[in-house]
Amino acid sequence: MSSSSDSRFFGRREFLRLGALTATTAGVAGTALGQNASPETAAPANGPASRVLGRTGLKVNVIGIGTLQITEPALIQAAMDLGVNYIDTARVYINGRSEETVGKAVQGRRDKVFISTKTPPGTKTKQGVVEGVEKSLKALGTDYIDVLELHQFNDASLVQNAELREALTELRKAGKLRFVGCTTHKNQADVLNALADDPDKFFDVVMLAYNFQSGQDVKDAIARVAKSGMGVVAMKTQNGGYKAEALGGISPHQASLKWVLGDPNITCAVPGMVDLVQIRENVEVMHSLKLTRVDEQILERYAGAVKPTYCGLCGKCEPGCPLGVQVSTVNRSLMYAEGYGDLALARETYHGIPGGASALACGDCADCTARCVRGLDIAAKMRQARELFA
Ligand code: SF4
Ligand code: SF4
Repeated sequence: MSSSSDSRFFGRREFLRLGALTATTAGVAGTALGQNASPETAAPANGPASRVLGRTGLKVNVIGIGTLQITEPALIQAAMDLGVNYIDTARVYINGRSEETVGKAVQGRRDKVFISTKTPPGTKTKQGVVEGVEKSLKALGTDYIDVLELHQFNDASLVQNAELREALTELRKAGKLRFVGCTTHKNQADVLNALADDPDKFFDVVMLAYNFQSGQDVKDAIARVAKSGMGVVAMKTQNGGYKAEALGGISPHQASLKWVLGDPNITCAVPGMVDLVQIRENVEVMHSLKLTRVDEQILERYAGAVKPTYCGLCGKCEPGCPLGVQVSTVNRSLMYAEGYGDLALARETYHGIPGGASALACGDCADCTARCVRGLDIAAKMRQARELFA
């Protein structure tokens, strides 16, 4: 980061703290910030970096905007003004208000941006897909969706589901969808590998949770699916979105994005943004993708700061629970509360868990047998959720 760009995107207090970290880092690493800064970083006036979204051929700027928490069209318009041309929403976000907000934001500029939205999670029927798309089109105020994703493919067998494919094919023929994809939150490597192995190459785009703490299995699967011709969109890029307080006021979010985009198989990242400060901070990365040694140090500190609380949402612990508790979704709810600071979203997510699979089931469990690959105390997290969402 150049000092000039830092001072524009951080408050003075944060900026001074960043300077302190930089000095420390230079001492630890034996390098100076000036040596780490790339010419790219020093010239943020360059146009935004872009990549091609796999076989769709869409040229997408590498930072898109996630609208999980946005109800203000002006924020999306500000992001567009700063070069964002990929807007990610979903039928379920804020009970449809996110799509409505996107629709208002793109009025008069529809041909300048790509919109991706998603069917309601868990939609398994042709009728459900068609109805979901019709509602999305209405809310968005558009007659086509650039990328329609089937939401939450957490089981690799869904990749070959004939009924879902039939629905998408018909909607595409009707001109309502340009390209189709899916999202995955759990069992991500399995789902990606199934997509890479699909002889029909039916899906064009996949969106998955990916950040600097993701496992090698996910990274390898991303490489396979990108090689098969799919566009790959990264969400949950900010490692839980925990606030800068975890690092003494230094924001880890640019470094997190640079790490994700350092993987050439990722087309774009769509971090959720809730205000102009975040938009500016994230969009800046489009002009400076180089992950510096300082960034690496920030990420090391960030990983250490959130280690006791951060769940990778991989779901690998869930087979160890005899009661079928959806541990990763419970933890995602906690992340929305603790990291995103959005208690309403946290409650909505938690109370959307089917009866019997929430943390309430843990109340009668004497000894937790679910084991976390990251060493989290799952019983303690479930207890915390029960208390928070009671
Ligand atoms: S405490 Fe018991 S019910 Fe809860 S996640 Fe662990 S094994 Fe499952
Ligand atoms: S608790 Fe651990 S194993 Fe379970 S989903 Fe989170 S990171 Fe994965």
